[in-house]
Amino acid sequence: MKLTILGSSSALPTSERYPSAHVLNAHERLYLIDCGEGTQMQLRRNRIRISGINHIFISHLHGDHVFGLYGLLSTFNLMNRKQPLNLYTPGNYKNILLSHLKDFDINLNFELVFTDLAGRDLIEILDDKYITVSAFPLEHRVPTFGFIFREKPTDRKMLKESIDIYNIPISAIQRIKKGDDYITEAGDIIKNELITINPPEPLSFAYCSDTKYFKRMASFVKDVDLLYHEATFESSQERLAAATGHSTSVQAATVAKDAGAGELLIGHFSARYKDISLLVEEARTVFPETVGAVDGKTYEVKAF
Ligand SMILES: [Zn+2]
Ligand SMILES: [Zn+2]
Repeated sequence: MKLTILGSSSALPTSERYPSAHVLNAHERLYLIDCGEGTQMQLRRNRIRISGINHIFISHLHGDHVFGLYGLLSTFNLMNRKQPLNLYTPGNYKNILLSHLKDFDINLNFELVFTDLAGRDLIEILDDKYITVSAFPLEHRVPTFGFIFREKPTDRKMLKESIDIYNIPISAIQRIKKGDDYITEAGDIIKNELITINPPEPLSFAYCSDTKYFKRMASFVKDVDLLYHEATFESSQERLAAATGHSTSVQAATVAKDAGAGELLIGHFSARYKDISLLVEEARTVFPETVGAVDGKTYEVKAF
C-alpha cells in the first residue's frame, strides 16, 4: 500500500499546499480519502488515473474536505463514466449532494452508491478482494469519521523447491497455500511448515482528520503501520486547537505513541506555517518516527 498526498493544508490553501485530499493505492486499486478543492488537478499533476477511483471517503462536511467532489463528479461524467462510484460520507450527505447536482443541472450517467457513516464505534464499511475499511468517530465541530484500511491476510507462500522434492501436483497447491499438509500417494504426511513460508504481514493505514485530541482514538488505530493524523497547530496553541476541534503536533504524536503505530505522517497544517519543521520536530520529541506531509509526495506503508 502507498499513500499519495494531494493536499496537506487546512481550510486555507497556500501556494505550496492544497486542501485535504489523499489517494491510497492498495494492490493497484485507488481509494480517494477526502476531496478538497483542486483534487482533480492534483490527481492529474501526480499522474493518478482518475478513472481508477471507485471509492471516495469523505471524513466530514467541511468545504476543505469536500468542495473538490463537484468538479470530480462532473469530470467523471464528461469522461462518460459508467462504473458505479461508492461514496462513504457522514451527515446524510446523499440528499445534499443529489440536490446540488440537480441545481447545477448535472445528470450523472453513472450510479452513486452511498454509505452513510454514523455511530460511536468502529464499523466495517468496505470488504473487497484485498482490503477491509472501517470507520470510527472523531471529535470535531460536525460529525467526523476516521478510516482504517487493513490488508487481508494472504495465502502462505509455496517453497518452490518443495514442489520438485515431494512431487507435489498443481492440483494440491491451492490447499497447501491455505495451510493444509501434503499427503503423498504413499500416504506420508508432509507438514505444511516444511513446504511453505509465512506470507508478508498484512499492512494497515489509518486516517484521522479533522479531530481534537481524545484518549479513545488510540484504541481505534491500535498497532497501525502508518498513521496519518492532523496537526493543524504547534503545541503552544493547544487551547486554540481544542476550541476549533483540531490537534497539535504533540497531540498527534501522543496518539501515535499510545496506539503503538509504526510511523506517523502529520498534515492538515494551518496556513500560518510556511515552514512545518517546527511541527515535525515537536512531534518527534514524543514519537520519533514522524514525517511531515508534502503535497505530491508518496509514502510507502511499511511493516514495522
Ligand atoms: Zn479541515
Ligand atoms: Zn473540519
